[in-house]
Amino acid sequence: MPWERIESYSYWILFVATFLGVAVWESFRPKQELSGAPGRRWGRHGLVLIVCTVISVGLYLASPVVVAIAFAGNRYGLLNKPWIPFVVRCILAVLLLDFVKYAVHRTFHSVSFLWRVHQVHHSDPDFDVSTATRVHPIEVVLSQGAYFAVIAIFAPPVIGVLVAELVSAFQSFFGHANASLPGWAEKPLRRLFVTPDMHRIHHSEAAGEQCTNYGDCFPWWDRLFRTYLAEPAAGQDRMVVGLKGFQNDASLGLAFMLTQPFLPEKKEQASRIASAEQA
Ligand SMILES: [Zn+2]
Repeated sequence: MPWERIESYSYWILFVATFLGVAVWESFRPKQELSGAPGRRWGRHGLVLIVCTVISVGLYLASPVVVAIAFAGNRYGLLNKPWIPFVVRCILAVLLLDFVKYAVHRTFHSVSFLWRVHQVHHSDPDFDVSTATRVHPIEVVLSQGAYFAVIAIFAPPVIGVLVAELVSAFQSFFGHANASLPGWAEKPLRRLFVTPDMHRIHHSEAAGEQCTNYGDCFPWWDRLFRTYLAEPAAGQDRMVVGLKGFQNDASLGLAFMLTQPFLPEKKEQASRIASAEQA
């Protein structure tokens, strides 16, 4: 079977299975009560996902594996050198691609216009599995472009790219679960992977806490670059998620989510970066 087909099947099977698994988990043991009906928010966030998928597929006509195959012979690539053991190159590929996601995410928080685009993800009035798909198409296109560029430049092994993609697909839903791991599992697992409790802090309404825990799969970049925060100031049970001024039903409108980056900036958001720096 060609790599592209293996990628397509494995990605979408994992995508659906993880979404359903996390949805069942959080419906049995929700961490926070949702402010609205899950059906409505899941439907709206599903529409955003469809819009993003159509735009990014139509624009790039490529996937990470397709790019990896196309640039496998890049003579300047660092991760296609035969003198580096294959397993080492695969591990480096997974680490590199996760670091790219950390760096891109942090950049979206640091650059004014990019933050306006990324705040669509943060303006979700609640935090659950569907939050993972609430991403503005501009963010998807720019992030995907950066991801493809790194694959083209470093020429990592195709299998390494595929593993990174699958781990990220799983982690995206798992990390946005409106549920918590039991205490005995949270501590050791958080040393290896970003857990829902860790990523939820990034979705705190407190601006300073939004500038922490940027990691996608692995928590090591946050620890290395000192953006790791173990607990929110208000505690996990009392912390408020979302963006101040946007914690209402209107934030679930499809038109609102697609146009939010271009709407006049709210006062609270204008002062956000300044207050985050002071924190
Ligand atoms: Zn963010």
